[in-house]
Amino acid sequence: MIQRILHLTLLIIFLPSCGSFASPPPPTLAPTRLVIPSPSSTPPPTETPFPTITPTPLPSVERVLIVSFDGLRPDAIAAANMVNLLSLMQNGAFTLSAQTIMPSLTLPSHASMLAGTCPAKHIVRWNEYVPQNGFALGVDIFDLAHAAGMRTVMVVGKEKLRQVTEPASTDYFDFVDRTDKIEDSTTVLRLALAQINTGFGLMFVHFADSDIEGHKNGWMSRAQLEVYGREDKGLGLLIQALKDKGMYESTMIIVTSDHGGHETTHGTDLPEDMTIPWIISGPRIAPGKLSTQVYTMDTAATAAFALGLPLPPEWDGTPVFEAFGMPVDEFGNSGC
Ligand SMILES: [Zn+2]
Repeated sequence: MIQRILHLTLLIIFLPSCGSFASPPPPTLAPTRLVIPSPSSTPPPTETPFPTITPTPLPSVERVLIVSFDGLRPDAIAAANMVNLLSLMQNGAFTLSAQTIMPSLTLPSHASMLAGTCPAKHIVRWNEYVPQNGFALGVDIFDLAHAAGMRTVMVVGKEKLRQVTEPASTDYFDFVDRTDKIEDSTTVLRLALAQINTGFGLMFVHFADSDIEGHKNGWMSRAQLEVYGREDKGLGLLIQALKDKGMYESTMIIVTSDHGGHETTHGTDLPEDMTIPWIISGPRIAPGKLSTQVYTMDTAATAAFALGLPLPPEWDGTPVFEAFGMPVDEFGNSGC
């Protein structure tokens, strides 16, 4: 019990100063003296030194990896036996009832996920690559990380995701397909593995084939679940590469999706389209199922919080504090 109280006390002392999780480890607490009360008939009060508390320094977050499985319904994770994602859930914090935005389409949803705002602010409601429309408005997570001197990377399955952030905000950007229709099971993974070798502060990886398969054969079809299984192996290889490079312990990993799907489509406000998984694993994460209602805009906010970057006040997303062992933020955002 005492240990638990000490632990809580340490948490309270430490949390206000750790808006930046990239900050140095907490200082060792100075020895405290505990006064033992004694009856008046006994000799003068004795002071017993309290043992020095030396918290084990937790690794700081040096980088964030955000992985989006396009069109991933939460119920597909178990149905497709995505063992690497299930393992992240077991070691991390997660919710299977996070919500995306309307329209529940790839480009608008990814814009909210990474710009931290609702479509009313970033204005991306189109879902094709339309270069003349420019880029999502506002400060996004790539802008923040890049301005802080971090290497920023986007490796995506669909060219249209270029419109989530300006080229100047990504040190590396590459995509696989211009048409949104061609499956390519190796290129995104190969590009992402190369970027792990190069090193990054923020990397976004987008696996797109499962969505394409959903449009062809239906959401939760055997063909789509097979693709999720294959893409999950890709996630496993990314994690293994981080471990091989000694980067895993200091990497925050967020896995989520842009939307779900029903029949052979998505884009509506049906729960099957709107509900997405949200999983976070890494330093300082308190494992377990989250009770916070998470929205896709919270991905950018949580990544910024983990990296110690200032949150733009206009963002609609809020960090998922509960994932860090902090109290549930009941006044968090309420969606779009
Ligand atoms: Zn999509």
